[in-house]
Amino acid sequence: MDGRALAARIREELKAEIAGFGDVRLATVLVGDDPASQIYIRLKHKAAEEVGIQALDKRLPQETPEEEVLGLVEELNDDDSVDGVLVQTPLPPQIDEPRVMRTLDPMKDVDGLHPFNAGQLFFGQQTLVAATPVGVMRLLAEYKIPVTGARAVVVGRSLIVGRPLSMLLLHANATVTICHSRTKDLARHTLDADILVAAVGSLGLITADMVKTGAAVIDVGMNRTEDGLFGDVDPGVADAAGFLTPVPGGVGPMTIACMLENALKAARYRSGALAFPRI
Ligand code: NDP
Repeated sequence: MDGRALAARIREELKAEIAGFGDVRLATVLVGDDPASQIYIRLKHKAAEEVGIQALDKRLPQETPEEEVLGLVEELNDDDSVDGVLVQTPLPPQIDEPRVMRTLDPMKDVDGLHPFNAGQLFFGQQTLVAATPVGVMRLLAEYKIPVTGARAVVVGRSLIVGRPLSMLLLHANATVTICHSRTKDLARHTLDADILVAAVGSLGLITADMVKTGAAVIDVGMNRTEDGLFGDVDPGVADAAGFLTPVPGGVGPMTIACMLENALKAARYRSGALAFPRI
């Protein structure tokens, strides 16, 4: 499944929509010097500029106290020229991530992490939804993989990937199993999956003997090694799977494209072109 090609198409469409809409401004907040986060921020800025979104790069040192991070988020909330705010995670340990997410203006929350947006997803009334899960659903749709009635197994239950993706799959009428680090006999679950998603961050965790023949396997994992970037799915799975996303070039580019779509959606909410539900 070619996420790079689909993401490029989405970005082209987005570019045209933004040209028709007007200014869209996205602010990113990076706290600390995590090397992977720095790469993601750079990629997001480059992609934003390519589609005509103005990107504002806010950086704070690793040891910044929580109040200062919250202060910056509030400043961006109040800044009328900013449509979307993305706080790159993970945040340093002195900062309470959920508190930061609660502080964000839900209308500017391009990662869909504010409890209001997460709650809307729970209700099946999606507003801004985390980009990686949306990207995975778009890939399934693009390759016409049946979701209704399918057995979907999501390995990983994070707030940004596993949980929202499980909810989207459920809304799309899959029968969903969520696995995590305490799951006993992981293979017993994964072998049942018509759609198997690995979102763990464990190199090669999913091996061929854990995959049903013909299954659609989505590899969200990003594990950086000296030899490059690898997923959670062992390359041997390619023989068993009916569909497989590569790493790199699968879910990663989709995440960025869908985050940019969220930035435009946020701008539409703010302009009144789209109605944001009243809180
Ligand atoms: P988290 O670390 O927040 O979550 C990892 C999840 O995996 C947890 O729910 C954890 O369980 C579970 N887990 C850990 N070990 C096992 C195991 N042995 N068996 C089953 N489950 C296990 O990570 P994220 O969700 O943020 O990211 C997951 C991966 O996806 C990472 O590699 C990350 O880099 C990548 N990623 C890729 C993106 C992309 O665009 N391609 C975007 C976002 C993330 P428990 O809850 O019990 O601890």
